[in-house]
Amino acid sequence: MAAPHVLVFPFPIQGHINSLLNFATALVDAGVHVTFLHTEHNLRRVVVSGAGSPRLRFLSVPDGLPDDHPRTAAYLPDLYKSLAAGTRGPFRDLLARSSSLVADAAGVDEPTGDFPPVTCLVADGLLGWAVEVADELGVPAIVFRTASACSLLAFLSVPKLFDLGELPFPVGGDLDEPVRGVPGMETILRRRDLPSHCRRPNATYEVNPGLHPLAKLSADSSKARALVLNTTPTLERTALEYIAPRVRDLFAIGPLHAMSSPAASSSLLREDGGCMAWLDAQAADRSVVYASLGSLARISREQFMELFAGLVATGYPFLWVLRPDMVADAAALEEEAVRAAGEGSKAHVVAWAPQREVLRHRAVGCFLTHAGWNSTLEAVVEGVPTVCWPFSADQQMNSRFVGAVWRTGLDMKDVCDRAVVERTVREAMESAKIRGAAQAMAEQLKCDVAAGGSSATEFQRLVGLIREFSS
Ligand code: UDP
Repeated sequence: MAAPHVLVFPFPIQGHINSLLNFATALVDAGVHVTFLHTEHNLRRVVVSGAGSPRLRFLSVPDGLPDDHPRTAAYLPDLYKSLAAGTRGPFRDLLARSSSLVADAAGVDEPTGDFPPVTCLVADGLLGWAVEVADELGVPAIVFRTASACSLLAFLSVPKLFDLGELPFPVGGDLDEPVRGVPGMETILRRRDLPSHCRRPNATYEVNPGLHPLAKLSADSSKARALVLNTTPTLERTALEYIAPRVRDLFAIGPLHAMSSPAASSSLLREDGGCMAWLDAQAADRSVVYASLGSLARISREQFMELFAGLVATGYPFLWVLRPDMVADAAALEEEAVRAAGEGSKAHVVAWAPQREVLRHRAVGCFLTHAGWNSTLEAVVEGVPTVCWPFSADQQMNSRFVGAVWRTGLDMKDVCDRAVVERTVREAMESAKIRGAAQAMAEQLKCDVAAGGSSATEFQRLVGLIREFSS
């Protein structure tokens, strides 16, 4: 039997890289060889930390964009298109060269240095074309979706939402109206909780530019040999129950970062470790608000000022992640906001933080987040209450689950007003009920990823399937 060797290929943005690197690390821990595929652009920038393993290596393919082309959030559609067009060829060559079938045919024992031939592809759900390439070459392919199960179910339900007349939303209609058509969630979801792409006022499903491709990708990923989600029934039982019959084989194996070796990280921005010393210097436990809107969100000057002033008004010290590309003229704005806060400011601002470490720190009392799926999982694993200010994509749904289903935090979506920020953050910091729910959730998630828990068991089943591919 050949040694199992998985080629892991994330969509090349931070949240997706983190999620799939946690998965890769868990595979390596289970004795599987992994080649982790970055784009050339990212491999040049990435700060890889953590203990290396002789079973894990990093390779790259071009992303198809000129070197000086921006890759920030506003340019994601360019990246998406150039990957499908420009990366397909080099990826095909790489997979053909390194996969077992080609190696067998050529009679070459080890076509890729010390690594055995690739026996399986695990591709990001946004890279449907990579699965097509693997199918053409006869390499078994598994799809990994980095977003929540509830958002996948919503995307799978999009054609039905159009049939029922729930989409498109009526112009000027009430976003608080409940939505029918996402099974199991009729009592939970309002219009405003559906993925942000649903808000675009296009008349039909086929012409909605954001929604149609994402719904199609979701439908395609459910046809793959297996579909992996970074979640657990503890968080999303109903969504998983409705998704399972619609896919060939479903694996819910999250939260992965709580299962794999803690050291692995692959950050595209340099983490400012100084904020850990600042946290250490805070005498009281749970006295600090951590605020970060992830790796992609871009906000207006007014939104920045409202969020910042609201945090200042709480009176709590806060650690704020201000990426240089998050708001126009970030450095000047930071100065202005700190000056406006005057003596009362207890802000510590960094460009990028070691978020998982921050959330584990005793001084952190709550997390003001955009409710990206990774950030959401990282908070619930640490039992940290969240205030959610969702920005786009699945964040609108994730924040609804936080506020209305798990009750581990509060959903502040669609409001950006300093008084509301102040009130909501105070409540998340001070409510024993929310903290209790967050801590109970964290305990249950620890059981899920521990030996015998649902995620650990499903992960072993997935490793078994991957081993079968190489037998
Ligand atoms: N992150 C980090 N430092 C920061 C902010 C974010 O390391 O200062 C990490 C965070 O831990 C998470 C990822 O970036 O793993 C963001 O992913 P998420 O899905 O939450 O949001 P996205 O960036 O995709 O919008």
